[in-house]
Amino acid sequence: MKTLLKGGYVVGFNGKEHEIIKDGVVVFERDRVEFVGKEYSQPVDKTIDAKGCLVSPGFIDTHFHSGINASDYLLSDANKLDYFASNYLAHGAPTREGAKHAHLKDVDVGQRFSLIHVLKSGVTTTLDIGGTGMNPEPYVTMVDEVGIRCYAGPSYKNVSFFQDGDGRLEYDWNDGRGSEGLKHAVEFAKKFNGACNGRMNTMLFPGHVDSCTPALLKDTRKAAKEIGVRVQIHATINLFEFHTVMQRERCTPIELLQKIGFLDPEVSLSHCIFISGHSWLSYPYGDDLKIIADSGASVAYSPLKYLKLGIVMESFDKYLKAGINMGIGTDTFPKDIISDMRYASIASKVAEKSFVAGHPRDVFNAATLGGAKLVGRDDIGRLQKGAKADITIINLKDIAFGAVRDPIKSLVETAVSRDVRTVIVDGETLVDNGKYLRLNEDELLEKVQAKGEQVWDSVPKWHWTGKSVDEVVPPAFKIK
Ligand SMILES: [Zn+2]
Repeated sequence: MKTLLKGGYVVGFNGKEHEIIKDGVVVFERDRVEFVGKEYSQPVDKTIDAKGCLVSPGFIDTHFHSGINASDYLLSDANKLDYFASNYLAHGAPTREGAKHAHLKDVDVGQRFSLIHVLKSGVTTTLDIGGTGMNPEPYVTMVDEVGIRCYAGPSYKNVSFFQDGDGRLEYDWNDGRGSEGLKHAVEFAKKFNGACNGRMNTMLFPGHVDSCTPALLKDTRKAAKEIGVRVQIHATINLFEFHTVMQRERCTPIELLQKIGFLDPEVSLSHCIFISGHSWLSYPYGDDLKIIADSGASVAYSPLKYLKLGIVMESFDKYLKAGINMGIGTDTFPKDIISDMRYASIASKVAEKSFVAGHPRDVFNAATLGGAKLVGRDDIGRLQKGAKADITIINLKDIAFGAVRDPIKSLVETAVSRDVRTVIVDGETLVDNGKYLRLNEDELLEKVQAKGEQVWDSVPKWHWTGKSVDEVVPPAFKIK
């Protein structure tokens, strides 16, 4: 069936860069874009009126965890001052005894919800780090049912993180845990690459620079090259990691990755905030930025996660100028990639102390072309003949937007996920009129609320204080 999207502003790709086609059309048939331009005179089976809308390539979320959703992230207020805003370690590391009660993955409700939640913000491709867990079949089936395009794989590391009864962080090392995890990840990658009718691709996701041994990281690169998949690792994500690596290896995390031959264009670094020269480090030595740029590795930047902690990348513009390919990730909650474009833009202005930094063009490129380059593809993140029919339509005709001159500026400065009208993945319409079509949203929300209550009730079982969720993270006002 041939479908024509008509009107609004079409973000076309001219082979080099995006360009805006006013009152343009996009034609797609099955999973491929057939035509992008001003007018299409051949017969079509269906016409979708997109007047007043931005017709955009679907966004690519380069850092996402389906296993961590609303209920977990409402616990993420940094409440341990001695952890220096070390995000997940402060709120997420359980006691040894309580570990089995913490952060339980729930494919059918929690993970399904997360994927639909991010899809509805216009994301058509997401990198789901560690979402598969140890029992991947139900996960793969669920991704297939949701309909999103997904780069997936289990996460693995040598370390398990725990907190003792006084809230001290413990690194529990185990060499076997790392190599077993890699073996399992390679098996997953081989078995499921191309699953879900080609919508699932696999990657290797070693945990973090401080939670994996250099030997495990070297084995990861070797295995990834052998089976032909890409790699993403959390790198320079918090001060604990920076200081642990500095103490252990006598160099920065980025220098360590370079030293062991880990960095190249098939690798992406999640977050990559605390590089040499960042103002929180008081470490103005070396040149991590140049190391990353010279290696060709990409960075997956999730600005909201850090803004919530009072931290900014220093800066998005500087990384771009150094020649680093940048992607945008959603990571925390809410997972709204349009808002994350805006956060990336504003954080860059603040870091640079410059109102011309964080240009809407650059953050939009990161959420489309940058994400595509990060996974090594030239058929997503753009609308041109032959590209995948992954399309997001955002309604700009609303009092919230007022008069529109530059639709990308309007998108980045004003839009949120609730302005997304239609999401098409592989030629299939998954969201229309702002509603996910493959299940009843109200029923899903009821299940999500019930799961959230369960997660919050379990907090005393695994949290080092043994206290209730309301004591650990008090609500804004007393709830009667
Ligand atoms: Zn992450």
